[in-house]
This record gives sequence, C-alpha cells and structure tokens, in this order.
Amino acid sequence: MSKKLTVLAYHSISNEYNDLLTISPKRLEKHIIFLIKKQFEIIDIQNIEKIKKKSFVITFDDGFEDFYINGFKLLKKYNISPIIFICPNLIGNFFEGKKILNINQIKELSNNGVIIGSHSLTHKRLTEIENKKEMYEELYNSKKKLEDLLTQNIDYFCPPYNCINHQIEQLILELGYKKIFISPLNNYKYYNQNPNYIVRTPIYRNDNNLLFRLKLTDFYQELKKNDKILLYLRKLKKII
Ligand SMILES: [Zn+2]
Repeated sequence: MSKKLTVLAYHSISNEYNDLLTISPKRLEKHIIFLIKKQFEIIDIQNIEKIKKKSFVITFDDGFEDFYINGFKLLKKYNISPIIFICPNLIGNFFEGKKILNINQIKELSNNGVIIGSHSLTHKRLTEIENKKEMYEELYNSKKKLEDLLTQNIDYFCPPYNCINHQIEQLILELGYKKIFISPLNNYKYYNQNPNYIVRTPIYRNDNNLLFRLKLTDFYQELKKNDKILLYLRKLKKII
C-alpha cells in the first residue's frame, strides 16, 4: 500500500561525486517521472494538511550548490517546489568537501518557489550540545539569520544527523517552527503519528529501482527491520 504523503530526502544532485548521498540529475528525474506515472500528486508543503490523494514533497539537506546547478531547473520543469534545509553559518563555504550555496543563489531559489528551512546554525549533533546558549543559537539564530536574509518566516526545521529528543523537539516548537523533518527513527509509529514531525524517506545512491519503489510503501518500514533482506534487495540490480 502506498503512503498518503511521501517526503523524499536527498542531499547532492551531481555527476561529479559518487558518495552515497549524491545521485545524478538523470536519476532524480527518473524518480520524479516514476512518481508522476504512479499518480502521486505534486504538492506544496504548505498544503500537506489538506492532502486527499497520495502526494509527494521533495527535500534537500545541507544546501549544496549542486542543487542550484543541477536540481533547480529540473524540478521547475515539473513544477515542483522543494524544501532546502540550510545551515546559515555554512552559506558560501564548503561542507563535506562540497560547495554550499551562496547568499545570492539562496535568494534566487527562494524567489522562485524553493522553500528554505533551517538545518541548525552549524550542523552539529544537537543531542550532544549541553550548553543552553549554544542550543538556542543553533535553533533560533539559524531561523533568525535566514528570516533576515529572505524577509520571510522560516517554519521548518531539520535536525542535522537526525539527532533529536523530546526536549529539543519542545524547544524547536517554542521557538516558532511549525514542523520538524526527520528520517525514520526507531520508534517509527510514534514519529509518524506525531503532528509535529514529518518523517521522510531518505534516498541513497545505492537504492536500485526496486528499493526506490519499496520505499514509497508502508511495507518498507517492516522490511527495514531485516538487514539481510535489505542487503539482498540492494544486490538485485540486474533484474530491474
Ligand atoms: Zn545535514
């Protein structure tokens, strides 16, 4: 059975790198074409409360410049408004060896329908921060810096490395964020049913077509519990 809302999580869109978090523009387009063919509706994140049919949203973490170069026009072609989660202190710098968007690129994307969310200030593991002031800066200053830059509200937060707990969740909401985007954590059902969270489907370079299709179903969460089956499915490249 297909899930009602599928929120896909990508990082880099490029032919230049071959790490697990980078997929080629061609592959991203294949994913989009598949979703459209399977009658998933393209929706804007602002409308997720109203969805009736199975729908999808696309997100990108870290704000790599390759999105601007390879992803933006491609998504525009299909009228998709993605969300990009950005760390303001990384703007214009390098992260994980890749260039991050600069201020002008972020402004241009934002002016052209791309939704900007906060990915904290510096991309630290929030669960390892003990200093209250530092936590506040990661959560609030990141929001404020992006809001000042774009003169619009920043409503969405995505914790780096998927590190979150109840206390941090409360603080994020108190500071005015509307939704927290995560990847599936152990207690999948809890997060999936909690309206404060949006549980995403992370997409990796080594997902073959079968895995991509399975990831669009509820069944995948069950399947994921068995590492051996997943490993086996990853090896099935040839038959698909
Ligand atoms: Zn990240």
